[in-house]
Formats: sequence, C-alpha cells, structure tokens
Amino acid sequence: MNTGSGTEKLRMFGDGGAEAMRKKSAAVVGLGALGSVSALLLSRFPLGRLVLLDRDIVEKKNIGRQWLYSEEDASDSLPKAEAAKARLERFACCPLEARDVNLDAEQAELLFGECDIVVDATDNFDTRYMMNEASVKHRKPWVYGGVLGSGGSSLFIDHTTGPCLRCVFGDTPAVGAEESCDTTGIHPSAPTMIASFQASEAAKFLAGKNDRVERGFFDMDLQEARFATIKVAKDPECPVCGAHEFPRLDNSPADEVRELCGGESVLIMLKGRKFDLSELERRLKSEGAVFSNRFLLRFEKEGVRMTIHSDGRVLVHGIPEGKKAMSYASRALGL
Ligand SMILES: [Zn+2]
Repeated sequence: MNTGSGTEKLRMFGDGGAEAMRKKSAAVVGLGALGSVSALLLSRFPLGRLVLLDRDIVEKKNIGRQWLYSEEDASDSLPKAEAAKARLERFACCPLEARDVNLDAEQAELLFGECDIVVDATDNFDTRYMMNEASVKHRKPWVYGGVLGSGGSSLFIDHTTGPCLRCVFGDTPAVGAEESCDTTGIHPSAPTMIASFQASEAAKFLAGKNDRVERGFFDMDLQEARFATIKVAKDPECPVCGAHEFPRLDNSPADEVRELCGGESVLIMLKGRKFDLSELERRLKSEGAVFSNRFLLRFEKEGVRMTIHSDGRVLVHGIPEGKKAMSYASRALGL
C-alpha cells in the first residue's frame, strides 16, 4: 500500500480531510467502465477501507474500456473484483477489499450497513432501486451514475437532506434514461467524466466537507459540450424515503434467474447453496471440458458453458432463455 501521497492531494478539501477519511470506508459497486475509473480515483485517498464489488469475471471484450484489466486477467478468468484489487494495490493509499459477489438484497444490506458511502457503477435500474432502498434503510448516502451515448448523469443521494432515487425517477426511469445493453454506442470519454464527478462528490463527503457536496442532478453531453446541474426535490409521497417501504429488500426472490444483456447468458443465483468446486470438478470432468482456478469452475459441453462460483452463482452461456438455462444447470449440477 502506498502511504506517501494520500494526504497531499487533500489540501483542496481543507483542514482535517485526511483524518476524516481515515475513519471512513467507501464502496464501488460494479467494476466496468464507470467503476474502473471511480475505483482508480478513490483508491488514491487515505481511506479506512475501499470495497470493490462485482459479480463478473474479466472477459476479452472488457479490456478496451475497462482500464483496470489486462489480457492476462481475461485469459486467467479472474473475477473483476480480484483483478481490480490486484491492479490497484500497486499504488493504492488505502486498504482494498475485493467482493466477488452478486449484489442481491442481502449483500446490499451488508454493504450499506458497513460502508459510509457507496458509489454506483452498475448498469441497471433494478439494482439501483435496491441500493436506494438499502441507502434509506441504513441512512447512508450513495452516488448514482449512468452513461448513455455521449451523455451521462450523476446525483449524490442522501435522503436525510434531499431526494432519493425514487423521488427523482418515480416508479421506473423515463424512457431513454435506462442504459442500453449495447455499449458500443457509448462515447469513450463519457464514463470517465461521470465517474470523475462521482468520485469527487464521494471524496468531499468522506473528507467531512458535506457543505461542498453538489446536491443538484448533474447532467452532461459531450457531443454538445453541454454541462448542467438541475435542481431536484423530494417527493412528499415517496414510498421509499417517505414511508420507508422497501419492497426490493423485503421481497427478494429465493432463487434469482436473470437473462443478461447481450441475449446469450443467464445468471442463476441459488440462495443459501454453497458449491464444493473440487468435488464438482471431479464429477464433471468425465462429462465435458473443465477449467478451474481458485475462484471458479467452468464446464463446457456442446456449445454451452457454465461458470460456477462457490457462493451459488451459476452463469450459463449459450442458453439465452431463463427457464431452459435453469433446467440445464439443475441437470448438470445435480440440483
Ligand atoms: Zn424518495
């Protein structure tokens, strides 16, 4: 860990910034294009701890836009959280913790319970609405961030002093606000811009400079060179920050089956199940091609690939339909 340069850059946050930060912990959720930059920036502050959370493994297609990863990380099938930690540890000014998990309701509560602030670098509103509920329940702020095309937006969310995500976007975000699965249309500078804004607002909060945190909705478009901060207000009828209703935390499904972006893969989350990967490897190697490292086991047969993690996560690639993927996994894994 780099202990030398963490304090110097804190001059702009005024007296006591470094001392305040040492007592705080932050998390970055999602370590793709946005999260790579947020994590890179936040890791250079003298925080008490920085948690890096992502459920995916590094793939070759990630390398161009996700700056923390190398070709070797993809070849070795490393979890993004572990690869990011290994890369950042070379120059980080704070202890790093990798969490190679799916952010379900349980993990969201754990994260918001432990950390002082959470930076959103996910790519879907389902997860963000769940994070929003956890933020209100645990009275911890978070920083929303999203990019689309050449545009992007961000908002520091602290429901005790301003609106929550539900207040701003309503039940579901307006058409056009949801990111597309197709990231090829994203301006390469847009994630960097939004992640920098998010990290800057998070850093002000972590340094104890709450009065300097921007409370407006930051919105920008690089093609038009447009940057604006829009005033947003609390919805007095908001069921989340007003009535403290948390449907996504309280009614989370037993097992989760989610068809993923790109239409080729299905993520299955088997709650409460732990896999013994060595035992599975012994069983599966006579039936198809098997690859393993200390984080996961991959099984491939007749064009279908399953990536299995010990925490009950199974990614099925090659069967795009949820129910069929679940029944394939059940048969292959003997569930
Ligand atoms: Zn609200």
